[in-house]
Amino acid sequence: MVTAISRVGKMLLVSLDRPVTLALHLKIAGQLVHVRNDGTRILGGHPYPLAGADLPDTATRVWMSFTNADTLFVNDQRRFCWVRMMHRRDVEGFVEGHGYGPDPIGPAFSAEVLAARLALRRGRPTKVALLDQTCVAGIGNIYADESLYRARIHPRRLAGTLDLGEIRRLHEAIVGILAVAVPVGGALMMGNRRSAVTDPADAGRDFLQAHGCPGDPCAQCRDDGKGSGGAVPLIIREVVGGRGTYFCPECQKLPTAR
Ligand SMILES: [Zn+2]
Repeated sequence: MVTAISRVGKMLLVSLDRPVTLALHLKIAGQLVHVRNDGTRILGGHPYPLAGADLPDTATRVWMSFTNADTLFVNDQRRFCWVRMMHRRDVEGFVEGHGYGPDPIGPAFSAEVLAARLALRRGRPTKVALLDQTCVAGIGNIYADESLYRARIHPRRLAGTLDLGEIRRLHEAIVGILAVAVPVGGALMMGNRRSAVTDPADAGRDFLQAHGCPGDPCAQCRDDGKGSGGAVPLIIREVVGGRGTYFCPECQKLPTAR
């Protein structure tokens, strides 16, 4: 049976009641579902398959049934996720080998820590640095975009060009957006777009303001009073570091080269 599920960076560790641990990474579209023997479900990761779907589903890649009738399903429409089973004694070395950076929802994550991590990646676009799990662990594409948006930093700004004030804003934005996202189970998406909440069970999951919002008026610019007369700047999408990236070209301007 499953005795505990914990998270290290973006890796999940599933402990079993024998000296065996499953390490898995859900990547961009993976989902872990723990169906307990009383029928209740604990679901994490991507919203699809939907919470009430019959499992296994066509997206199910791995499932395991335990002697107490619990079942674990690993679902992934995109097939990027991985699962590895190992002896409990090998877990520490396996996790260390991944070289994860600090956990942004842990107490040790400060603006100074973020500054030091970014300083090691000064020649890279800030968004690319944030997605590097050895820089900060656990920030994915959605939360990198939302953090940069809140901090008003262009995703292509080189990490080494940020001053301490900007890094403090970015730190505050990362902590702030995760404090909104984690308690509600993450942002609700429909494909690549922000999804409206229709089920009361999803309350609070429609908080995205940049990621998945192409063509929407920028809420920050509107609050700043820009574009009075109906021409509020719109959120745009570009590809940065190979990932679809959403930002406001007005309040996240790239400084002009000197
Ligand atoms: Zn804006």
